[in-house]
Amino acid sequence: MTTAQAQARIEQLRAELVRHDERYYREARPEIGDFEYDALKKELAELETKFPELAAGETPTQRVGDDRSEGFVRVKHRMAMTTLDNTYDETELREFHARLVKAIGSDDLAYTVEPKIDGVAVSLTYENGKLMRAVTRGDGEEGDDVTANVKTIRGLPHALKADEKSGDDLFVTAAFPEVIEIRGEIFLRDAEFTRINQIQEEAGEALYANPRNLAAGTIKQLDSKLVATRRLEIVLYGLGACKPIQAGFDSQSSFQAQLRAWGLPVVEKFWAVRGIDAVWASIGELDAMRRGFAYATDGAVVKLDQFLQQAVVGYRGAGQAARKLSPRWACAYKFAPDRAETRINAISLQVGRTGAVTPVAELEPVLLAGTTVKRATLHNADEIARKDVRVGDFVLVEKAGEIIPAVIEVVMAKRTPECVAYVFPTECPVCETPLVREEGGVKWMCPNVACPEKVRRKIEHFASKASLDIDGLGEEVVDLLLTKGLIKTIPDLFRLKVEDLLPLKKSGEVWATNLVNGIAARRTADLWRVIHGLGIPQVGAASAKDLARRFRSLDALATAGLNELVQIEGFGEKTAEAVRKWFGEETNRAMVAELQVAGLAPTPPAEAAAGGALVGKTVVLTGTLPTLSREQATEKIETAGGKVSGSVSRKTHYVLAGEEAGSKLEKAKSLGVPVLDEAEFLKLIGEN
Ligand SMILES: [Zn+2]
Repeated sequence: MTTAQAQARIEQLRAELVRHDERYYREARPEIGDFEYDALKKELAELETKFPELAAGETPTQRVGDDRSEGFVRVKHRMAMTTLDNTYDETELREFHARLVKAIGSDDLAYTVEPKIDGVAVSLTYENGKLMRAVTRGDGEEGDDVTANVKTIRGLPHALKADEKSGDDLFVTAAFPEVIEIRGEIFLRDAEFTRINQIQEEAGEALYANPRNLAAGTIKQLDSKLVATRRLEIVLYGLGACKPIQAGFDSQSSFQAQLRAWGLPVVEKFWAVRGIDAVWASIGELDAMRRGFAYATDGAVVKLDQFLQQAVVGYRGAGQAARKLSPRWACAYKFAPDRAETRINAISLQVGRTGAVTPVAELEPVLLAGTTVKRATLHNADEIARKDVRVGDFVLVEKAGEIIPAVIEVVMAKRTPECVAYVFPTECPVCETPLVREEGGVKWMCPNVACPEKVRRKIEHFASKASLDIDGLGEEVVDLLLTKGLIKTIPDLFRLKVEDLLPLKKSGEVWATNLVNGIAARRTADLWRVIHGLGIPQVGAASAKDLARRFRSLDALATAGLNELVQIEGFGEKTAEAVRKWFGEETNRAMVAELQVAGLAPTPPAEAAAGGALVGKTVVLTGTLPTLSREQATEKIETAGGKVSGSVSRKTHYVLAGEEAGSKLEKAKSLGVPVLDEAEFLKLIGEN
């Protein structure tokens, strides 16, 4: 490879990795699997080693990803959070050991082997035994404060358990450290992942690729009430800063014992072994048992056990930037994902409710991770072009915790001359309208509002459980009504008559009557269900509820201005603009009017106490109040017409703070948001 070729490839790899980092860390919606990502990063690292003159400047190999996002207070870690070097290869694992033997001067090294849980890294700070703060990894130096969300995790003690031991055990001390950072991983069990994705699917919203992405997306929700509805879990295993230093433990295994003694959730199994052969045997044991775990385990973390030895070997630094990157004393051995090779028989296109056209590979059925796979997502036109996927190609299909298998790469050696490059259509496969590129995105969209497929999916969404929840109006019935020409639009549903339906089914009187009654019964459905059912881009169930609370009628919502919409807590400009744009379109306004003429009269949310002291006000709760529980305080705020929010922003009207109020109180002060104690709060709402 010439220097010029290397330079071109390095630039290409860097750009690609930056894009994937963005998708992975910030949007929690990756396009490629870890294995493929690691392979790209490895190729880049090798090129940079081979051509050191090209290695200068910002490069993804020299930094950890960055998960920091808008809306959170940023907090510096006392000790940087690093990422581990990965390997999929036994030889590399043995080289890791050889380097340590050389550095320490002994080949009898003690290691721990822990399951690597595929979750979201977090650092918890306990001060004198009390949980004060939870912060994401961020860029390694500074992360987002997610304390309120982490506190919703069941099974995570907010106070450490005092030791019962008398103190004669060297490794388990009675007193709590003044300050200790404990590192761990937030994750979701597979069953919980499936449950939440089902809800997403019913709501017509994008599915999460795997439990890790869902956990990452959840921990970054601004509304901790929503977080509490999802069963996040946490496991703790790592030590960050600690004051006084070491506080009585001197090894990873004694630290694990201490975590357990404090009542913290820890990995269900870990191995303390000597020598690399024993490490390798433990990894084999873990691999054999991990499929029985209720959560995704994608590898094993091997750590040098003794903290003193860890200090001797230290960290791999980033040259002039004096930044710790990855510890030399630890290594992640990752299990290769479940993959299978099969042939692509066809590429089909799905048109969604919003008009997004998604390419899907129709596969020769193949057994993968215990299930028969017939279809795999190809994500979008750019991904097809990048991987040069063609009909007739043999491809590797991967299923690594994802519900939807993905095509990873083409087996080029097996490509036959008949395989011609795939040309992404320029027209909608259903209505033949020329496709347009999604604004600022990678998707191709069918812009035709009358596209039959979009119409079908819109009606399905309107009737679905997550929206109007109309009895008896599932996908099959919607399909039947459309093909028989009985409905063309959503308002047509409310004009259906029993006699129109009778010819559709043999002796279908009961069915027809029930369906018509079922639809009629939902004329007065909750307003938020109707708003959600309209299918406004960006507006899920939670936003629909916010809109219903704020505007209380479709007419008020339809005429709401952009500045009114952005006032809503948790509404970004993107959502506000989407709402504005939707109601700005003549066809949409006409449909809403038609619905009202057809008798749709949604029920607004229960009125807050008339003239309640907190009408239109947003309140953030923090700390422990002297007499009120969190639930009681929330109820009082809502009864007084206010809304409880999980995070402090400029839109917050009051912060109700109790004892041990943490970062939210600081943020309130810095933004000049009025802070109330319980007595002042009760006075404000007229209860004292
Ligand atoms: Zn179309």
